[in-house]
Amino acid sequence: SVTLSDLRKEYGDLTAVDGLSLDVDDGELLCLLGPSGCGKSTTLRMLGGLETPTDGDVHIGGEPVTDQPPYERNTSMVFQSWALFPHKSVLENVAFGLKMDGVGSEEREERAREMLDVVEMESFADHDPTDLSGGQKQRVALARSLAIEPDVLLLDEPLSNLDKRLREQMQLELRNIHDAVETTFVHVTHDQNEAFTLADSIAIMNDGEIEQVGAPREVYDDPVSLFIEEFLGDTN
Ligand code: ATP
Ligand code: MG
Repeated sequence: SVTLSDLRKEYGDLTAVDGLSLDVDDGELLCLLGPSGCGKSTTLRMLGGLETPTDGDVHIGGEPVTDQPPYERNTSMVFQSWALFPHKSVLENVAFGLKMDGVGSEEREERAREMLDVVEMESFADHDPTDLSGGQKQRVALARSLAIEPDVLLLDEPLSNLDKRLREQMQLELRNIHDAVETTFVHVTHDQNEAFTLADSIAIMNDGEIEQVGAPREVYDDPVSLFIEEFLGDTN
């Protein structure tokens, strides 16, 4: 589980995250949804330890991790830019984090192949990442992040570089991958269709705060404010 308590982040005079509290259950897929600049990435980065909160606390699995660096939290991040190593094979890319964790080479290969199987990329194990399409690269990046078996997978707009058709396909695949690995996912997006397709729960952010959290249906049927109503009504 993940608990954010009264989290705050200030950059000089600017308050990016303004007293945000949130609970995410084990195995849940939560989408953090909101307009550009509302503080989604900053929140995710504080969860992953890439940014230090000005105030407030982060707990993962009940443990306080607010002061821990990223590598001591059992989290893993996926970004929109798929940073795969170009000179390593797909399999080596997926096994990389396991090597850093000191897992032996045989087990590394076995676990990496398992993860490639989950994302349906096992037949590309020996390929070079530069040969892959955008969607395939993103699948390998997902496999690499999941191979270390994180408690929480953090995704920051991982599909936003893909064209619309591929993005919609990957949304469904991402949901299947989540169900296969049963890991807690915190998925940031500004795309409400993506959130409604993917999420067990949606937390809608406005100006550094969470304005509403609930199951997609609940949020859709019962918006608590004009902001939520207008944001969801805006089909961009
Ligand atoms: P987007 O959907 O565009 O990615 P976001 O919801 O992820 O937006 P953040 O990146 O969290 O928004 O930014 C929230 C606010 O904090 C913005 O006003 C942004 O300009 C500011 N901000 C973010 N990072 C920094 C930084 N390193 N230094 C100064 N200001 C920052
Ligand atoms: Mg962002």
